[in-house]
Amino acid sequence: MKLLFLGSGGSMGIPVIGCKCAVCRSTSSYNKRLRPSVLITNGNKRYLIDIGPDYRMQALKYGIDTLDGLLLTHTHYDHIAGLDELRIYTFVQKKPVPCLLSRETLEELKIRYHYFLPPHETDDVHATKLKFQVLEGDEGKTNFEGLPMTYISYDQLGMKVNGFCFGSLAYVTDILDFKEEVFDYLKGIETLVISGRRWEKSKAHLSLEDAMKFSKKTGAKKTYFTHISHEIAHEETKKDLPEGFFLAYDGLELTL
Ligand SMILES: [Zn+2]
Ligand SMILES: [Zn+2]
Repeated sequence: MKLLFLGSGGSMGIPVIGCKCAVCRSTSSYNKRLRPSVLITNGNKRYLIDIGPDYRMQALKYGIDTLDGLLLTHTHYDHIAGLDELRIYTFVQKKPVPCLLSRETLEELKIRYHYFLPPHETDDVHATKLKFQVLEGDEGKTNFEGLPMTYISYDQLGMKVNGFCFGSLAYVTDILDFKEEVFDYLKGIETLVISGRRWEKSKAHLSLEDAMKFSKKTGAKKTYFTHISHEIAHEETKKDLPEGFFLAYDGLELTL
């Protein structure tokens, strides 16, 4: 199984429009961060976790010509704004794209993207078509289009967010408030991908320190921070991180 970071940036992406800070002006490719999303490859199948506003460029850059499923963590703009880009897959693959999400995420999508909902008109090529698989409850195990996983739920600014665990790897983004029970479901993971926007706590995200504390409670051997803001310079911050903690970057691929 492989996990490719299509984007490791925060909600505004890096560089931030109009920002003249050192990170936004940096010429290092490590400081160029598209909106957060990863591609999971399992055998010959490919699954996307979240689809932000940069998806078209990410799909072209990494050659994502086919897609077997989309997992959604929640419905904030930086995680769903690329949904309309799935239209090409429904057109070429001649079927709706399977989409795994919580009941709450689906209810929100119904408001924002009413035209994705079944029934789909068979000859309509003007809209993305999705086939929904709804997660039961807050935590559990499921199989999504041949991909077995454990899922957890937590909270960000009153919105339910899902994290996913594939064997020894967990992807936990946009986490702010969580129940202690989540650690029961993350037991035995070796690699954790977690949102870490900046050193200081922000309104919607854990600080890097708090994300490290979370990671230590899971027992993960390796932790990769994603959803990174322009307050984090890659090379400089890399040196300050303790052993076992890394900054993700666009194009980084983990093999598990
Ligand atoms: Zn986000
Ligand atoms: Zn900046």
